[in-house]
Amino acid sequence: MIELDGSTGEGGGQILRTSLTLSMITGQAFCIRNIRANREPPGLRRQHLSAVRAAAVVSNASLSDAAVGSTTLEFTPGRVTGGVYDFDIGTAGSTTLVLQTLIPALLFAEQPTAVTVTGGTHNPKAPPAEFLQRAYCRVLAAMGAEVEVDIERYGFYPAGGGMVSAAVWPCRQLQRINLLERGALRMAQAQVIAARLPAQVAQRQYATVRNLLGWDAEQMLEPLDPVTASPGNAILLSIDSEAVTEVFSAIGDRGVRAEAVARAAALEARRYLASGAAAGEHLGDQLMLPMALAGGGAYTLDHVSQHAITNAEVIAHFLPVTITFEQGERFNTCYVRARD
Ligand code: ATP
Repeated sequence: MIELDGSTGEGGGQILRTSLTLSMITGQAFCIRNIRANREPPGLRRQHLSAVRAAAVVSNASLSDAAVGSTTLEFTPGRVTGGVYDFDIGTAGSTTLVLQTLIPALLFAEQPTAVTVTGGTHNPKAPPAEFLQRAYCRVLAAMGAEVEVDIERYGFYPAGGGMVSAAVWPCRQLQRINLLERGALRMAQAQVIAARLPAQVAQRQYATVRNLLGWDAEQMLEPLDPVTASPGNAILLSIDSEAVTEVFSAIGDRGVRAEAVARAAALEARRYLASGAAAGEHLGDQLMLPMALAGGGAYTLDHVSQHAITNAEVIAHFLPVTITFEQGERFNTCYVRARD
């Protein structure tokens, strides 16, 4: 049984989710203690518990008692089986983080899968559903994996009620790729989602983006005002280049000015554009898992976060790879190499 300490490095939920994914794929059982020790409150929250239960269902796993607040877990996977699955987080917890736990494992099932997850679709500190669609799935597609993500309903904190679906086709072996250059810019667009909010929110956010990034009016898409259970605001900046697509985002919150939300996303996009790297910070902590499953690969990233370093360590517990980061002048390179 692989033993993990959830307080190492970042000490957040990703240690658990990466472990679930790789346990399902490799068939190795694991035991984790100090789950989310660096978060307040620590232990499992609904989103993590949903990821655990969903992973247990699709891999026919046996597991120790798990409840909201649990700080230890034992997970022994069975065989990953595709099919039709519907999971409901029951809160506005992130649907995309639950999906990202399942998708790599479902690629290795013998059958195709159609899965839905109900909860939040646009959450702070989690990938928005469009990030999965455009950035994450595009890299998976380049590696030979066919995954289609759709937003069925938008859901914001606190009511949630959003739904994201994923169709996953079996892929016996992910192909190795290198993503060292992003290539020429094909398209850059901003999209505001402002559900049940005044029209000025979108106007003010577009003005901030144009000011900080120098983008034209044509790059500002018509704001979306979807039907949702709670009001909500998100801004998405999609940067589509020849080899890779990035999506930078920020989520509105009570008491935070619309401009400050747009500014946070725009500054991340600006750092990425100036760096020349293929991946931004978030894609940068997520790409090493599929690359490790492919047996190797390399990519450039604009910033190496504590998340990335911690994820690299967790992956090396399950797979025979070494993941290292090399710092360059403008960007960093992540190397995923097979270990002898
Ligand atoms: P916590 O332990 O607080 O619950 P968590 O479960 O949200 O944390 P983290 O360990 O913080 O999990 O990991 C969040 C994941 O979401 C990371 O892979 C991170 O890169 C990703 N992420 C966060 N914000 C964004 C964003 N704006 N776009 C894309 N991915 C994001």
